[in-house]
Amino acid sequence: MRLGYHVSAAQSIDLAFDRALALGCNTMQIFISNPRGWEIKEIPKEAKEAFIAKSKTGEVSPVVAHMPYLPNLSSTNESTYSKSIENLNKTLSLCSELSIKYLVTHLGSHLGKGTEIGIRNVVNAINKAKIGDEVTLLLENTSGSKNSVGSTLEELAAIREGSDKKIGFCLDTCHLYAAGYDITKKEVLEEIDRKLGFKDVYLFHLNDSKFQLGSHLDRHENIGRGYIGKEGFSRFFSYRKILAKPFIMETPQESSEELLLVKQLSGNH
Ligand SMILES: [Zn+2]
Ligand SMILES: [Zn+2]
Repeated sequence: MRLGYHVSAAQSIDLAFDRALALGCNTMQIFISNPRGWEIKEIPKEAKEAFIAKSKTGEVSPVVAHMPYLPNLSSTNESTYSKSIENLNKTLSLCSELSIKYLVTHLGSHLGKGTEIGIRNVVNAINKAKIGDEVTLLLENTSGSKNSVGSTLEELAAIREGSDKKIGFCLDTCHLYAAGYDITKKEVLEEIDRKLGFKDVYLFHLNDSKFQLGSHLDRHENIGRGYIGKEGFSRFFSYRKILAKPFIMETPQESSEELLLVKQLSGNH
């Protein structure tokens, strides 16, 4: 099983590997620029080389990057929108320099202008972006808070249909649950497969939910401590098709115990 955490890439980016390995991860996610800023700093040559060397050992694989929070690919504000595409392009090119294969992005907010316009803007942004073969852009589902794009399977599928690039998806279990998809049920997982297709899901964000089904609140909880719960995750993992995917946790408190718990819950089948 490929299981890991979102880890810090502070100080020197290559240290993310050491942090992941110390926790017992064999995959990880990182930010490659300040998550709360627009600026993408040049990474020093030595750090970059150390990062690539550690990546080549294959101990932690795949390595996933997450876009910063400010870019909004759905935005109806022209200057934010063009800045967002520019940030996406820079992040994609930095991923390819670092031989990072997957980049996760949120789909942003249509700022009250409606889902249709939001989807159109995301599609447009993807089609304008410089997406090559080395890095696959993964669209992340949201919990469906006000004006957010990408909380339903239909919206995600519509973006894929509209875009002329090959993209994939990152499904967050907390966001699915908060959006009203009870992933502890086989029928719901079959619905996801039918409407979206697990073949295009390259990654799961594995998080429990602090709030109930359909709450539309994006609050992560440690695995087993939220509304999905241990039994819920155990039923989720019994849907074998998903087990080959990498799982990245973004829970409030990372620990080797939590990694072990997930391995137990996924191995009970
Ligand atoms: Zn995310
Ligand atoms: Zn979240």
